[in-house]
Amino acid sequence: MAQSTSTNKQVPLLLNGEFVASTSSETMPVLNPATQEVLAHVPFATDDELSNAIEGAKAAFQKWKDVPVTERARLMLRYQHLLKEHQKEIAEILAEDTGKNLEDAMGDVWRGIEVVEHACNIPSLLMGETVENVASQVDTISLVQPLGVTFGITPFNFPAMIPLWMFPIATACGNAMILKPSEQVPLATVRLLELFQEAGAPAGLVQMIQGGKHQVNTILNHPDILATSFVGSVPVAKHVYQTATHNLKRAQCFAGAKNHMVVMPDADKDTVMNALVGATVGAAGQRCMAISVIVFVGETISWAAELADKLKAIRPGAWDDPEAAFGPLISPAAKQRVEGLIAQGIDQGATCLVDGRGIEVEGYPDGNWVGPTLFTDVTTEMEIYQQEIFGPVVCCMNVDSLDDALALVNSSPYGNGTSIFTRSGVSARRYQHEVTVGQVGINLPIPVPLPFFSFTGWKGSFMGDLHAYGKQAVRFYTETKTITSSWKDAPAQAPNMSISLK
Ligand code: NAD
Repeated sequence: MAQSTSTNKQVPLLLNGEFVASTSSETMPVLNPATQEVLAHVPFATDDELSNAIEGAKAAFQKWKDVPVTERARLMLRYQHLLKEHQKEIAEILAEDTGKNLEDAMGDVWRGIEVVEHACNIPSLLMGETVENVASQVDTISLVQPLGVTFGITPFNFPAMIPLWMFPIATACGNAMILKPSEQVPLATVRLLELFQEAGAPAGLVQMIQGGKHQVNTILNHPDILATSFVGSVPVAKHVYQTATHNLKRAQCFAGAKNHMVVMPDADKDTVMNALVGATVGAAGQRCMAISVIVFVGETISWAAELADKLKAIRPGAWDDPEAAFGPLISPAAKQRVEGLIAQGIDQGATCLVDGRGIEVEGYPDGNWVGPTLFTDVTTEMEIYQQEIFGPVVCCMNVDSLDDALALVNSSPYGNGTSIFTRSGVSARRYQHEVTVGQVGINLPIPVPLPFFSFTGWKGSFMGDLHAYGKQAVRFYTETKTITSSWKDAPAQAPNMSISLK
């Protein structure tokens, strides 16, 4: 329920092992999106604080890079244990400032814990290679070494999972990291880092700054930052990627999405309907892997009316309301934008079977509510098709064949996720082979891989180093050094070996 709307609580910075109050006079309120209650004030760190963060991280890296890899793995083991113990507490913190319901929030933390579990395996992930006698008495070995100080910039929609994509792998590899959480939802990251310290992370290994554009740009342009991981919208991803690479730094930028789901005439209708409700409007559509376009093939377009009935039967609500299907949008500005796009969809000729504008939630008159919204007769020229709406709004399209569906999906500038529902092995095999999208689901709506695979995106949904997240992120956060040694001048030191082949 709505509570007091004022607080003096300030979100801290984490500098050199201490959670400290920023001296900045520039702050922004962190709001509960269901009530507009002010949960805390987030400071925009000063330039001195940013320099302090970089210097502290550099000093921490000099010590940490030589800490045995087994010790680094043990830090991750202790951290994994603490995160599991505090999963619900972290979920409740982030449910309050994102508005997502508790089940989603628990999943947000859990997907992050899985990355930490992966980081526990760091000794085997960092193994190099050796080939003896690449020439006579010449051997080559490759070593995998950390980079130095890295930078992580995270979005609002997964305040636990996405920071946990970044700093556990970066530090397990031997790096230090400066982390900047979304200014809209900084509170869960504070708790994640308190627990990291409790697990035994040395001072300065992860520094947390707060802020927005200026703070990002200052760190990004600093010569001592060697690699940047970014997750967020397309325009900011492009800016971060272009700035980092212009300065000859490594960058991986996960960006926005417009995910299509193809429904073939031989698909099982109930399975499709059940999958679609959660995959489209779950988490209020504020997921980079949400299905926002349904491509009905042939007669299956008639199923849109049934989906409309299902969407009419669900409603948003506060994070602790067990009856609510999803929560509010993140901010009044996001609500205004989504409602504007719905109006544009109607103006441009789409048919709105379910209109979520103007919905009210009892007891929460000030929430950023938008109800489920479903359009049919959508064409590729419409704004609702072209833009990532990031709200509970679904566009239905109709094509004649799998060929047409593939042509539509492959012409999208985005390539984050897609899925196909079919009982034909041939259609499924063709789709997985020909579609130009990073994550593909076959009879699964949201195909997010576990960290022992890697998450990536094609086309405009991902820029930069494809060694992204999980298993392959180890390649992003490390350099390979190849050493070739000749033993010809020191034959006496070579082992005395004889091999007999029988
Ligand atoms: P955003 O781009 O507005 O913000 C992301 C981060 O960038 C924040 O930390 C913010 O402070 C910073 N930032 C904002 N403007 C900046 C600027 N001009 N210069 C430098 N830094 C700036 O994104 P958001 O609204 O927080 O998150 C939603 C977006 O993230 C959606 O587009 C969604 O698809 C995307 N996303 C993508 C993935 C993925 O894996 N591809 C995952 C989650 C979210």
